[in-house]
Amino acid sequence: MTEQVASGIPYRDTFWNIPMWARVFVYVGGTAAIAVFAWGCWQRVALWREGTPERRTDRIPERIVLVLTQALGQARIVSQAYAGVMHAIVFWGFLALFIGTVLATLDYDITVPLLHVKLLKGTFYLLYELVLDMFGLFFVVGLGMACWRRFVTRPARVDPTPRFAYAPLILFVINATGFVMEACRLAVVKPAWAAWSPVGYALGQAMRGVGMGEGVLRALHLSVWVFHAAIAFVFIALIPQSYFMHLVTTPLNIFFSKLRPRGELAKIENIEEAENLGVSKFEEFSWKRRLDFDACVECGRCQDACPAYISGSALNPKRIIVKLKRYMLDGDTRPIHGEVIQADELWACTTCMACVQECPAYIDIVDTIVDLRRFLALSEGALPSTAPLALQNIQRAGNPWGLAPAERLKWAEGLDVPVLEEGKRVEYLYWVGCSASYDRRNQNIARSVVKILKKAGVSFAVMAEERCHGEVARRLGEEYLYQTVTTENVENIKKYSFDKVITHCPHCFNTIKNEYPQLGGNYEVVHHTVFIDRLLADEKIKLPRGFDQRKLTYHDPCYIGRYNDVYEEPRRVLSVLNTNDVTEMRRNRNKRTSPSSSPRASSRRAVDPAYREIITRRLELPLHQGPDKRARPEKAVRFP
Ligand code: SF4
Ligand code: SF4
Repeated sequence: MTEQVASGIPYRDTFWNIPMWARVFVYVGGTAAIAVFAWGCWQRVALWREGTPERRTDRIPERIVLVLTQALGQARIVSQAYAGVMHAIVFWGFLALFIGTVLATLDYDITVPLLHVKLLKGTFYLLYELVLDMFGLFFVVGLGMACWRRFVTRPARVDPTPRFAYAPLILFVINATGFVMEACRLAVVKPAWAAWSPVGYALGQAMRGVGMGEGVLRALHLSVWVFHAAIAFVFIALIPQSYFMHLVTTPLNIFFSKLRPRGELAKIENIEEAENLGVSKFEEFSWKRRLDFDACVECGRCQDACPAYISGSALNPKRIIVKLKRYMLDGDTRPIHGEVIQADELWACTTCMACVQECPAYIDIVDTIVDLRRFLALSEGALPSTAPLALQNIQRAGNPWGLAPAERLKWAEGLDVPVLEEGKRVEYLYWVGCSASYDRRNQNIARSVVKILKKAGVSFAVMAEERCHGEVARRLGEEYLYQTVTTENVENIKKYSFDKVITHCPHCFNTIKNEYPQLGGNYEVVHHTVFIDRLLADEKIKLPRGFDQRKLTYHDPCYIGRYNDVYEEPRRVLSVLNTNDVTEMRRNRNKRTSPSSSPRASSRRAVDPAYREIITRRLELPLHQGPDKRARPEKAVRFP
């Protein structure tokens, strides 16, 4: 170092002021810490591997991009202002310091002795020092923000327990001791480039200012250096046993996340002979679900987004995942159903996917809930009170309300709606769905869609044999009924000749598009709002400007929004309808909270007080979240 200081070349002297015994300590301690870390990680991997098989190794390039954007880039995390920025600062600070340590090790132990190349010198070294100092500073700010949030402002979704206190504390100590070591070194060596480490330089000047001489600074440097190394080794060794394990599990879980359509539930293969119908005990969860549970960072973002939780039902998605995580890590052996997870929690889920959308660890919360429901529905027959009737109705009458199948096409009377005929090809099958076939308000929308299709000269027809597409049964866990209904529907559809399907309702859209392929129904499916948007863009239909002067807002249905990323097309159609007064709610697109997509909606709305509470909240949202807080909706039309 002295030589380099004299020559004026900036240069990192890795073991300045460090005697041989301390160097030996750092190599022995570092090796031991890494070995303990690796052993701990292996034990966790072994725990995951006890789960049932599941294939998650396809589409590797996409998985790598996800890790880069979501784990390293923190894209989903920063979508929340305070918590997101806080976590991103801490994470990027940690990452920068980790990379800095790896570079220093590479430099000293590999490139210099083996290749005779010094990496950390000259301009690169100056930038290295500056960047590490700045990130170290951000890191401290981020840790302060984390403590402030968890222990002072205490939002309901985070636990202010000591378990989480030591995490920022240990990181703070490692970082602060790093600055003290740097300050002592710079204060003694006084290199010309000291100001490139602004924090260490300022601290070193302060040390000099209070009269610390070289002997004191050297002694302080050595003692802090040893302490810093020791606490860093403890930190590394403890990662697998601590909250910090999410440094490993979260990126891994993101890498192995579900790349199939979000709205596609796994099929129970060979259901007639399958041994496991859903998940009855913990051993039946796949390795990926076990990794899911382990990856939960207990941030509570799912809880905040969950309409069932907000409305005071028994369900809290965070609690479900955390209970399963503890169950796995503690080696619990109690029955899951009834002891660990109550049926009420499972049935309260609307499958709106808000939790999955928010989860920074990419945990498949809804798929887990449905797997647990499948056991209750298929093996125990323990459905919630209103569900059996709806399911019987689907089986018997082809709709959840048990209304006469012969009246399914009554909505079309007087419109001269074409009906599919064998041997006669049309371009589009218009799949109307139960709600638009029987519900008066929705019938009006189906009639309007037909008028639009006719006006635009679209070749289409409806199908006389149409019946419920079965999604209600599937989301309730009644996979057997779903597969029966879907197989019948696919067989009926096969008789006819058409190119694409236009669906009326978001649920039909998701199921026919994403789930029917599992049973041989492969179609190009378009939601009617998207289709109308295309007709407008192609000028097949036109509307005069200012056609509708009412103040409008759009409430995204989960099953076309969050499930299928259809956000803009319905808005474009609305903006053509009304060029002045289309407004957005504060929570819109994938952020909006609503249970409108519940598969149980049709059977629960009228009878379940908890569900009515969710619906009430949903209708309150436009009142409280709209840009115009005085606005009151004159009408709520189930537009899509
Ligand atoms: S899907 Fe919706 S209702 Fe169900 S747990 Fe997630 S946020 Fe809650
Ligand atoms: S499941 Fe996801 S969103 Fe919910 S607490 Fe765990 S990590 Fe956070």
